[in-house]
Amino acid sequence: MSRTKFIAGNWKLHLTRAEGSALASAVAAAVPAGVDAAVCPGFLSIASVAQAVSGSRLKVGGQDCHWEEKGAFTGAVSAGQLKDAGATVVILGHSERRQLFGETDATVNRKLKAVLGHGLIPIVCVGETLAERDAGRLQDVLRTQLTGGLAGLSAEHLPTLVIAYEPVWAIGTGRTATSAQAQEAHAFIRSVLRGIVGDLADRLRIQYGGSVKPDNARELLAQPDVDGALVGGASLKPADFNAILAAAA
Ligand code: PEP
Repeated sequence: MSRTKFIAGNWKLHLTRAEGSALASAVAAAVPAGVDAAVCPGFLSIASVAQAVSGSRLKVGGQDCHWEEKGAFTGAVSAGQLKDAGATVVILGHSERRQLFGETDATVNRKLKAVLGHGLIPIVCVGETLAERDAGRLQDVLRTQLTGGLAGLSAEHLPTLVIAYEPVWAIGTGRTATSAQAQEAHAFIRSVLRGIVGDLADRLRIQYGGSVKPDNARELLAQPDVDGALVGGASLKPADFNAILAAAA
């Protein structure tokens, strides 16, 4: 089953609006044919980045959203507001949100329903800590995060779902999962997805995230179940991100 590779950059809490527009413009000019690409700036830069790359193939995404559409939720941003600003993608359940901001599978699930309700492409992050991996709990953790995050949803709701497998021990640490470890986890994730969405699982994309760089991207992306990458640090450097895009082509 051939799946279009999807490379997304997570800018986290970096870059001003001007810096973001310049970086996104450099990336937009380099998206290879046959590869999907997105950048996910901080909320305040989404509209300006979307404007800077409008007419290109580069998508723009949010790094999170709230599950409610409107109301007394100080500091929150809704999926509808992200769409209004020009986002077409939303990252949900990133491990930093889980570890630092109390995100749970239940809140990921509520947010996912809001994102799908607006026709946005969700990137749902899952992944184990080093302690969980060392305790032999990899599959338990992934199954729990997937079944909790996707609860109440089925194939008809999830045609655009993207999963990002991000082993927590590999994020921002310079430590990458080996291509064999990534493939093993991705194949397991696809088997869990098959139980939830049936044959659609073969068409859904599973990104790898965790210290993806130009020098390891090609080997990771060559694995049969690795359908793209969610990139943190290297997405802030246009030469590096564009090299990862080229490796996906
Ligand atoms: C991430 O933030 O999702 C990530 C994978 O970061 P990095 O590429 O820096 O490890």
